[in-house]
Amino acid sequence: MFRTLEDLDVKDKRVLVRVDFNVPVKDGRVGDDTRIRAALPTLETLASRGATLVLMSHLGRPKGVDESARMRPVAARLEELLGRDVRYLACDGPGSPEEEAFVRDAPHGSVTMLENTRFDARETKNDPALARILAGYADVFVNDAFGSAHRAHASTEGVARLLPSAAGHLLEQELRALGKLLERPEHPFAVILGGAKVSDKIGVISNLLEVADRILIGGAMAFTFVAAQGGNVGASRVERDQFDTARDLLAQAEEKGVSVVLPEDSVCARELAEGVETAVYPTHAIPEGMLGLDVGPRAIDAYRKALEGTHTVFWNGPLGVFETPPFDAGTVAIAQTVAELPAFTVVGGGDSVAAVNGTGLADRIGHISTGGGAALEFLEGKTLPGVAALES
Ligand code: ADP
Ligand code: MG
Repeated sequence: MFRTLEDLDVKDKRVLVRVDFNVPVKDGRVGDDTRIRAALPTLETLASRGATLVLMSHLGRPKGVDESARMRPVAARLEELLGRDVRYLACDGPGSPEEEAFVRDAPHGSVTMLENTRFDARETKNDPALARILAGYADVFVNDAFGSAHRAHASTEGVARLLPSAAGHLLEQELRALGKLLERPEHPFAVILGGAKVSDKIGVISNLLEVADRILIGGAMAFTFVAAQGGNVGASRVERDQFDTARDLLAQAEEKGVSVVLPEDSVCARELAEGVETAVYPTHAIPEGMLGLDVGPRAIDAYRKALEGTHTVFWNGPLGVFETPPFDAGTVAIAQTVAELPAFTVVGGGDSVAAVNGTGLADRIGHISTGGGAALEFLEGKTLPGVAALES
């Protein structure tokens, strides 16, 4: 088991916290601040227990120092949300001498936001020298950056090996919710998988076949499954090099007694554009030149039936091109169904979470995972290096 905030004594200590403040920034202002808000419980707990806080995060993918990727707007937004001063110094990164001096001068009980960890090339290499500098900034380390837990970087894995460490509330919540899916899901357990590519999701599908009772497949991914079985999917997006994999996954499902629901029909159009003329066809008989862009009404009915009576649901991947109406209809319909289920429901994945947030139903989902890549790797059964480093 990983350690949590309950296991750490932070009174009068300096606490280095790895947060995921990788938020959209435009014209020097933070756009969607969900990730900053998500870290507040951990920061407030630590502050109320008398800790001095030193926070670090990456922002974007800068190659070295980059004016457009400074943490200044993030520090400013955090200051508003926390309602207290946040110290920040624009510099060459958390490994620079200026930053070291700035951290040394931090008054007792203050909050300091370090510069973008990725300004230092040693960060993504998990360089021990950078990890040692970061560890020197504090007495204890808290990791609350679930979205970065699948990367072994100096600010996630390296530093955790050098200081007494624990998971923050957000990381703990993620690990408990996702862990429940793999370890002790209440059955029946249904998994809804959509999105762009089968190749992105093979690991997740095969691992979840071990624990799920039903798998509902939609999105572009479904066409690869249907075409692999000899269906005509028109001009829909298909991965020919995944046909064997798709057939193999279906065979594994059958062997394990997992029922698979593929979309019986699809909403199609000649081109992908907002408000184009659409037609519904059986997914295995889409006319030449037509693109399948959303699941059809029969498919939605079948998914709803398959979700009835379930006690656990995990959903990754939009069921259609939800960015372009009317091809969001299937995704919205299933979001409504999932929100109404009296089940433990989890949504994970960057686009899936955006889609569910867009419906306004997010607060009726049991758990919304903040880490796309990390959540999928966790559900593939992989060990997340940032978490392994916190294990006692
Ligand atoms: P997530 O980020 O939640 O893991 P993915 O990245 O796998 O999800 O997939 C999301 C993308 O899949 C969206 O951009 C969506 O438009 C696309 N998609 C879904 N259905 C289709 C379809 N029928 N044809 C083409 N693209 C699709
Ligand atoms: Mg995505």
